[in-house]
Amino acid sequence: MKYDIEKNFVNGKKVDSSSQKFLDVISPVDGTCLSKVCLSNTKDLDEAVQAASKTFLSWSKTPIKERVQVFYKYKTLLERDIDFLAELCTEENGKTLSESRAEVEKSIELTEFACSLPQLVAGEVLEVSRGVECKVEHVPLGVVASIVPFNFPNMVPNWTIPNAIALGNCMIFKPSEKVPLSAGRLALLLKEAGLPDGVLNIVNGDSEIVEAICKHPKIKAVSFVGSTKIAKIVYQKATHHYKRCLALGGAKNHLIVLPDAIPSMTAQNVAASMSGCSGQRCMAASAMVGVGNVDNIINKIVEEAKKIIPGKNLGAVINKASKERIEKYITEAEEQGAKILLDGRKAKVEGKENGTYVGPTVIDHVKPEMAVAREEIFGPVISIMRTNTVDEALEIENANPYGNAASVFTQNGGMARHIIERASAGMIGVNVGVPVPREPFSFGGWNESKFGVGDITGKSSIEFWTQLKKSTVKWNAEAGVNWMS
Ligand code: NAD
Repeated sequence: MKYDIEKNFVNGKKVDSSSQKFLDVISPVDGTCLSKVCLSNTKDLDEAVQAASKTFLSWSKTPIKERVQVFYKYKTLLERDIDFLAELCTEENGKTLSESRAEVEKSIELTEFACSLPQLVAGEVLEVSRGVECKVEHVPLGVVASIVPFNFPNMVPNWTIPNAIALGNCMIFKPSEKVPLSAGRLALLLKEAGLPDGVLNIVNGDSEIVEAICKHPKIKAVSFVGSTKIAKIVYQKATHHYKRCLALGGAKNHLIVLPDAIPSMTAQNVAASMSGCSGQRCMAASAMVGVGNVDNIINKIVEEAKKIIPGKNLGAVINKASKERIEKYITEAEEQGAKILLDGRKAKVEGKENGTYVGPTVIDHVKPEMAVAREEIFGPVISIMRTNTVDEALEIENANPYGNAASVFTQNGGMARHIIERASAGMIGVNVGVPVPREPFSFGGWNESKFGVGDITGKSSIEFWTQLKKSTVKWNAEAGVNWMS
């Protein structure tokens, strides 16, 4: 094994789990076993929560301007270690090195936002009667938890860790058991940056530990990012135990392409959106609706997609089960009469025969009722449907239960606005294939792509990670001068 066993990180130290159960960490790049990760149990969680609870008083009482100093330092450490973090990310997740670097760069941007929190959480004070002041402050919740998926081993942890901690909370962090190595490294960087022991604690594991987090009486809030199936379970369990919960789920993002779209730019964007991170992005274009005659644009999409080569500028998908699932979707669509314009099944990379690769796949003449049109495939596949009108295209988009993102490609501003107003998704792009809002704007979908109020990043995250304390204070010495006294 290239790396030591990935242990838990509790009270500033790597510690063994008491379960003595482990899972192999397999690289999708070539199938080698990189490490093992421990699968924790309730006792391990209790210890982590105890460490976090003990530290909460001192951390929450540390002024926020002092707390964010840790993140200024952490940002420079991310910059220092970007090459190592990117390589590790590629090894455990399978994405290309440039995609991994982009993730770390995004993590740096997220950290910069956390450094701006003192400016954003300044409270309010008003003299509401003579000598009587009301003050409103954002105060931390206590011990909070963050549970994350496999597809962004650096970026998604940095959606929650910097903001929640800078705002004064102590955290229990649960990485994906498929990619636990990057999170372990981030914890060490935060320690090096000066984060006090016990503020961030990592408890590795699978569904058992997630369930324990949702039930733990001392955990006040749970954030979750992952598939819709599990988001629903986590949201139900955490709220059943009276916790604040924000659970982000899966996606089926639609691109609506109009005949006046600029062909080369549209084709490049569609191909990049469907295949970036091997299609394993909740912001990936997964369905395209061509309105009217867009054959020339579709031809160009195929040309662009052909330039995307597995093992070169296209990474692997996370594991064998994923590869099989994606290929099954393609086969079923073909059997149901869709036309495969570019087929990524049976992709092989020389020298990496045990890697799990799927090539870019373009499927045309897909019907809205087919599984490839409705379900999240999470692979480098685009399903193209055709309609005569924009409103028919919107009907298809609106009927999908997800609602993470949607984009329109056109040069007609009025039409773009029509679609922005009617698409049922939280993040909309115009001539942009992956409409991720950059900081300080917040990230979050609608419908079955998110359960709970608010978004997970940006200014919206302040509401999730804090509660409002309202104090009313009388400063005048005289008695009985106003109704409030
Ligand atoms: P997943 O739902 O399988 O796993 C996410 C987390 O839940 C992991 O930490 C995992 O250990 C845990 N988990 C898995 N099964 C569980 C169970 N039965 N009970 C409790 N916990 C369980 O997701 P994944 O495969 O790791 O990630 C891919 C999914 O994440 C895709 O659906 C993708 O769209 C979604 N995603 C969404 C966003 C977003 O912002 N909406 C961002 C990234 C990924």
